[in-house]
Amino acid sequence: MYAIHAFGSEEQKEEWLPRMAAGTAIGCFGLTEPDSGSDPGSMRTAARRDGDDWVLDGRKMWITNGSVADVAVVWARTEDGIRGFVVPTDTPGFSAPAIKHKMSLRASVTSELVLDSVRLPGSAVLPGVRGLRGPLSCLSEARYGIAWGAMGAARSAFRAALAYAGERVQFGRPISGFQLTQAKLTDMSLELNKGVLLALHLGRTKDDRGLRPSRSATASSTTPGRRWRSAVPRGPCWARTASRWSTRSSGTPTTWSRSSPTRARWRCTPSSSARR
Ligand SMILES: Cc1cc2nc3c(=O)[nH]c(=O)nc-3n(C[C@H](O)[C@H](O)[C@H](O)COP(=O)(O)OP(=O)(O)OC[C@H]3O[C@@H](n4cnc5c(N)ncnc54)[C@H](O)[C@@H]3O)c2cc1C
Repeated sequence: MYAIHAFGSEEQKEEWLPRMAAGTAIGCFGLTEPDSGSDPGSMRTAARRDGDDWVLDGRKMWITNGSVADVAVVWARTEDGIRGFVVPTDTPGFSAPAIKHKMSLRASVTSELVLDSVRLPGSAVLPGVRGLRGPLSCLSEARYGIAWGAMGAARSAFRAALAYAGERVQFGRPISGFQLTQAKLTDMSLELNKGVLLALHLGRTKDDRGLRPSRSATASSTTPGRRWRSAVPRGPCWARTASRWSTRSSGTPTTWSRSSPTRARWRCTPSSSARR
């Protein structure tokens, strides 16, 4: 929504924003390409003028909600530099195959966008911005949302851990009755609350002074880290999960062991069966 809200024409805003705000139209944001990720300036997707129309050709990759979207904001190279285009997803030449077997963020659909001679009217371009400033300012907004999303996931992880620790009985009582388990849960709760406060502070600063890229990047890189540390408490449980994961990705069974009896450092080595 932000790209249309910040850089769209009145016509584009009226057509899409009320429906998107109501949730009756879904949008997606197409910047990343197979060979252009962190460096969006190297994008290959191109838009050329053909009479009054624009014609778009290219590929976008890893696009959240691509296959369920009604409208895509697609960034493309033009003679005037990088421009954004509002592309209804039922336009001939547009398709969005879903990317399967994702390892994370599985609550949302991620897709490829294929643009094969997608013809759009001259009014489809976002008039309010040229160059990389357009997509990069959208990313700053997105990072703010990611910070909250990560904290939502962290809250779910904390609640699940708390509920399990209350139900799981060992040595005649729930494991939440042991102080070491309580310390882990307290740690999770503290990290969760610190992350929420950081996101809240960022929101207030955004209302007050606007969003600087460095501020939203700090929040989006800090809060998912908190979620990760919260969701995977240190120790054997985490080691077992990590071992299964590394076996799956490398095909080699692994064992996790403490590298030092006094320090919480964990080391991954091929398991004895794999060494044989
Ligand atoms: C689940 C998911 C959803 C996504 N949704 C969208 C979306 O809706 N729209 C969209 O446009 N994109 C989306 N993306 C794409 C995402 O924005 C890109 O993954 C991101 O820009 C990084 O690009 P890349 O994956 O090609 O990694 P690369 O650019 O190939 O980078 C690989 C690694 O190298 C590091 N690296 C690269 N350059 C440097 C450098 N100069 N200095 C130090 N380290 C560097 C990166 O940090 C990274 O760790 C999504 C990705 C995922 C996984």
